[in-house]
Amino acid sequence: MPYNQITVTGTIAPGPDPKGPNPATIRQTIYDALNTNGFSFSWISKAHQPYHGILDTGAGSTIDLYIYAWRIINGGRKKLVSEKRIEISSTARDEGFNRPTTATEKTLLLGLYDSPHGTPIFAAWDAPSNANRGKQKSCQVSVEALQASIQDGIHQSKDTHDNTIYTFTPDYLGDYIDLVQSGNTLNIASTNPVAVPLSKKVKDTTLPHKKKRTIKSVESILAQISNLSQTEKEIVVKHRIGQGLFKELLLNKYGCKCALCTITTEKMLIGSHIKEWSASSDEEKLDVNNGLLLCAHHDALFDKHLISFDNVGKLIVSPTLTEQEKAELQLDAISDISVSSEMLPYLEIHRSKLRR
Ligand SMILES: [Zn+2]
Repeated sequence: MPYNQITVTGTIAPGPDPKGPNPATIRQTIYDALNTNGFSFSWISKAHQPYHGILDTGAGSTIDLYIYAWRIINGGRKKLVSEKRIEISSTARDEGFNRPTTATEKTLLLGLYDSPHGTPIFAAWDAPSNANRGKQKSCQVSVEALQASIQDGIHQSKDTHDNTIYTFTPDYLGDYIDLVQSGNTLNIASTNPVAVPLSKKVKDTTLPHKKKRTIKSVESILAQISNLSQTEKEIVVKHRIGQGLFKELLLNKYGCKCALCTITTEKMLIGSHIKEWSASSDEEKLDVNNGLLLCAHHDALFDKHLISFDNVGKLIVSPTLTEQEKAELQLDAISDISVSSEMLPYLEIHRSKLRR
C-alpha cells in the first residue's frame, strides 16, 4: 500500500514517495525562514551536521545555534501509511545533541517535508531527548501532523517516544525558536495543562516575529544572488524575491493594505514593482522605493501600464481606456498614493510606458 502524502490542494491521499529536499535546499530554507522572521542569521559552519550558526534575536542578544536537519521521508519498519520520519545520519556529530540548552545556546532537530501543496513543512523534535539513543536512528511524525500546520501555522503532537513534536510552515520558524528559548524542554503545554493550546496561542496572540516582518539581511541575500549563475539567479530571484521577500518588505513598509483601495486580505496583495521586474537590477528588485503593495485588480492595471501616478501621487489613466471601461474598472475610487523622492525615478520610468 502506498504511503499517504499531502496533495497539491493540501488534503491527504496516497501518493508517490517524496524525494525530499536536498541538504542545500534544507539549509537555504532554514536560512531564509530565519532571516524573514525578524532574526538576522548567519552560518558559521555548513560542512557537517550539526550545522552551526549565530542568530541575532533583534532584542540585543545572540543565540549560538546548532541545527540538525534532514529531509522527511516515508516511515520505516512499521510501515503505517501515514508515518513519516527523518533518519539521523550516522555521520552526524554529537556536539549538538550533548550540549546543554541555555538562553544563549540552542540545538534544533528538524525535518523538512517537501509538500506538494506549495510550502515546505518543518517538523521539530526535542534535540536533548534524542541524544544518546544511538546512531542511525529515526524520528517519526505523522502526515496528519504535517498537514495540521497548513491550517494552524504551528501544530503540536507527540512522537512514538511521547516527546512533543512541533510541525510548522517556514514562516513560523521564528515562533518555534521563541518556544525553544522560553521553554528549553519544549514541553510547555504539559507543565500547564489548562493553558491555551499552543498552536492557538502562537497563532492568535504572540506571533512576535511573524508579525514584525523585519528583514535585516537584504545585503546577505544580494551577496548570495551575486554568486549564482544567470539561470539560477533568474529562478531564485523570481521565486524568492519577486514573490516572497519583496512583498514582505512592502508589507513591512506599508502595512497589510492595497495602496489604491481598502483591500487588506494579505493573500490578495502583491508586491508590485514600479520599474518592471525584468528591467530592474538585483538591488532595484529589492528596493522598497521601487514597489507598491497592490491588490490583484490594481496590480493588473498598474503592471499593464493602464494607470500610473504623477510626482505628487495623483492618478494618471491611459487614454486608451474608454469612459465605459474607466467606470467598469472603478478608477474613480482609486486613492492618491504618497510619493517619496526615492520613488520619483522609478515612477518616471513607469509613466513613460503608459499605454497611449
Ligand atoms: Zn486595490
